[in-house]
Amino acid sequence: MQASPGKMRTPFKLDELEPTAEITIGFKQVTELSWRQKLSLDACTDCGRCEVSCPAFAAGTPLSPRMVVQKLKGELWRVYGRGEEAKDVVASGLIEEDEVWACTTCAACVEACPVLISPFEYLLEIRRALTLEGRLDRRKSGMLTNLSRVFNPYGLSPAEREPFLRELREMGVKLVSENPGAEYLYWIGCASHYDARSREIVKSMVKILQAAGISFAILGDEELCTGDPARRMGEEGRYQELALTNIETFNRHNIRKILVHCPHCFNTFKNEYPDLGGRYEVIHHTQLIGELLRTGRLKLRKKLGGKLTLHDSCYLGRVNGIVEEPRDIIGEAVETGSFVEMKRNRRNSFCCGAGGANYWYEVKRRDRESVLRLNEALETGAGTMVVECPYCMQMFGDAARIADAEDKIKIRDIAEVVAECI
Ligand code: SF4
Ligand code: SF4
Repeated sequence: MQASPGKMRTPFKLDELEPTAEITIGFKQVTELSWRQKLSLDACTDCGRCEVSCPAFAAGTPLSPRMVVQKLKGELWRVYGRGEEAKDVVASGLIEEDEVWACTTCAACVEACPVLISPFEYLLEIRRALTLEGRLDRRKSGMLTNLSRVFNPYGLSPAEREPFLRELREMGVKLVSENPGAEYLYWIGCASHYDARSREIVKSMVKILQAAGISFAILGDEELCTGDPARRMGEEGRYQELALTNIETFNRHNIRKILVHCPHCFNTFKNEYPDLGGRYEVIHHTQLIGELLRTGRLKLRKKLGGKLTLHDSCYLGRVNGIVEEPRDIIGEAVETGSFVEMKRNRRNSFCCGAGGANYWYEVKRRDRESVLRLNEALETGAGTMVVECPYCMQMFGDAARIADAEDKIKIRDIAEVVAECI
């Protein structure tokens, strides 16, 4: 099983494979699971804690992590207890494809399970087997094609980011090739390269970094997708192609510290690139801004009033344990009493619905996770929902439109809040 919810198992290394090597990845039958995986299934007490915490279950998708584990446990007993022949868990209808794809990999089930089972890891391994066989709908295969064709999941030409890169250059931002001694590589990420709203996060960060006198540079045209959406979709080869190319770029520029504002990029660089030889100091923008405020390198001229609440992103809070830094920053940037917590916060936060590559395809559901979460923010009476992830920002922006709540609540990245106070 995975070492942590943020680190998927690396089943092979693309650059070490023989050209004729046959690849097996994921599992179709329970007999293919490791003993540890089998014992883990057997330990399930059917307590239902994972189901209660699961956003996909709350949104009315066919997925219940409890049922996935119980069904696999039943299959295990059928095969090993009664000596019957193992079945393909998906082809036999035991696990539905819609269950497999509804998981946002938010890790709430892992956090909730009293016997340390990780239900979503079985789903990710089934995804790998489905993807290997090409059992993907048009949206999923289209996203993977985009990654091969234009190196971003949006499928947009890299030329589309040129005007934004020009704008950054006009703000004084240098490329790593022009500033090889820069302390930080600031990784922009696909969302902020191609989505107009997410670009505001970058502009705010540039303002903050310049105000604090931080030496940084960007990759410009050399930046490709981290590969995270391919990996979460089960396409390990496509992930590794992108990861190995990025690692080569980092090494060519002698990169040591990578600053990111996306928790998914953060997780991939920090927890997953080391398996492929890419070891860097990875810093999320909440960590750096917190440090700059603490040490006095960044000074705020004013504090914001009005009620604010904070949404902890799954891959920053629950998966990587970064929960106090954003609160410390907000404590500096808003007037006393302005900040209100949502009922579910920190490691107990509720997913926006975009994770696990769910952002890139449709899932049959009764409700949207993002709208359920937005309603929790509205219940606090806050007029601003602060986020720390460009995908959360997009999901809640859409949710506010769907819920007709755009005049009640604004969605802002934490960097935008800080930049306004400089
Ligand atoms: S990772 Fe999240 S969405 Fe997936 S099964 Fe667990 S709780 Fe549900
Ligand atoms: S929380 Fe753990 S023990 Fe309880 S039903 Fe879910 S997987 Fe089983």
